[in-house]
Amino acid sequence: MTWFSPAVGAGRTIDVLILGAGPAGAALALALKRAGVASVLLVDRSARPSLRMGESAAPGLNSLLRRLGLDDRLEGRGHRPCYGNLSLWGGPTPIVEEFATRADGPGWNLDREAFDAWLRAEAVARGATLESQARLAAVVRDGDGWRADIRTGERNLEVRSRWIVDASGRPAAFARRSGARLHRFDRLVALAVRVESAESRGFDGFSMIEAVEIGWWYAARLPGGKSAVALMTDMDIARETDLQSPDVFRQAWASTAEVRRFASLPDLALRPVLFAAGTQFIDRAIGPGWLALGDALVALDPLSASGVTGALEDAIAAAEAIIPLLGLESRGGEARNLRSAYCARANAMLTRYLVERRSIYRREKRWGSGRFWQRRAVI
Ligand SMILES: Cc1cc2nc3c(=O)[nH]c(=O)nc-3n(C[C@H](O)[C@H](O)[C@H](O)COP(=O)(O)OP(=O)(O)OC[C@H]3O[C@@H](n4cnc5c(N)ncnc54)[C@H](O)[C@@H]3O)c2cc1C
Repeated sequence: MTWFSPAVGAGRTIDVLILGAGPAGAALALALKRAGVASVLLVDRSARPSLRMGESAAPGLNSLLRRLGLDDRLEGRGHRPCYGNLSLWGGPTPIVEEFATRADGPGWNLDREAFDAWLRAEAVARGATLESQARLAAVVRDGDGWRADIRTGERNLEVRSRWIVDASGRPAAFARRSGARLHRFDRLVALAVRVESAESRGFDGFSMIEAVEIGWWYAARLPGGKSAVALMTDMDIARETDLQSPDVFRQAWASTAEVRRFASLPDLALRPVLFAAGTQFIDRAIGPGWLALGDALVALDPLSASGVTGALEDAIAAAEAIIPLLGLESRGGEARNLRSAYCARANAMLTRYLVERRSIYRREKRWGSGRFWQRRAVI
């Protein structure tokens, strides 16, 4: 499907081409249009936001939406407020961490497909153009900008763009093509299912995490009477123990202390979907005429539950970097300073996150000899 705004057409010069219309790309398009950037083109390979994990948004989402000029009444759009986490971490007794005690308001259990589709639609309503089911077939540097060949199912589009932004998520497709190297910190994977959930089992309004010998479980209530349930472990452990097999997954679920009560096991055995969920980052955040943000820049362990809010924060920071850079020669000193500032922010964010990640994993000491926990005790 193609949505055209009059600002972007085939063979035209545009200001910013954004590869990927997930939360990071769509929010950046919104921020750029809000700041008056004339032409913004979003290119996404999928027709619509696909089934994905990432439904627990941290407190702070509402204020980010307001900063992007969006209506933050999420409950009215079917998302569920989440008041905290129940965690079995570091000991067998569930501990309640209530968000309500924080100044940022509640967290959210999102309908991710609906949330992502809404951000895309808002970007288009502000004047961005969205090419979905599209890919960047070729791209070359052209003076201070880029010449890009975009293929959709129906036709080829050639555009000249002053900036290209990599918001493609974990593939970091454009940044890697531009020479950035991807570093993987671990091989965490999520084995996930969605199940019907009975309401009022004493856990409503809370997400849950439960540490086990081979990793940890996550469960959250979703809008529409469903729950998301996932086991996070390392790829090699998942393979060796055949965790994707419905029976093995079911047995592991049945042996949890609390997750099995949070979301009852379905009658039929379900084959979990496997998602890459490890920490990864690229070694260049920005170059002449391009930058990366969201998961393309740094993808976080789901334990942080801040991928969505982080993507929106990145979008605001990326807009603040790109807007002045659009008016500058890429080789000038002022442009270099702006690029350094964007890098410094990314470095600081990654360092802060790695320190927090290590401290959370080290709090769990019950399975010191288990491979999953040993690996996290040293990094
Ligand atoms: C198992 C798991 C659990 C998670 N749980 C949480 C959670 O509870 N809370 C939370 O906040 N976050 C969570 N996250 C993280 C969160 O989902 C991401 O951080 C967030 O989606 C990042 O947004 P993004 O826009 O950077 O990338 P994405 O959401 O991945 O969007 C990237 C977009 O780019 C498109 N694309 C990719 N490659 C190309 C290409 N070559 N050309 C064109 N388009 C392309 C894709 O179709 C997609 O639309 C979880 C992630 C995982 C894996």
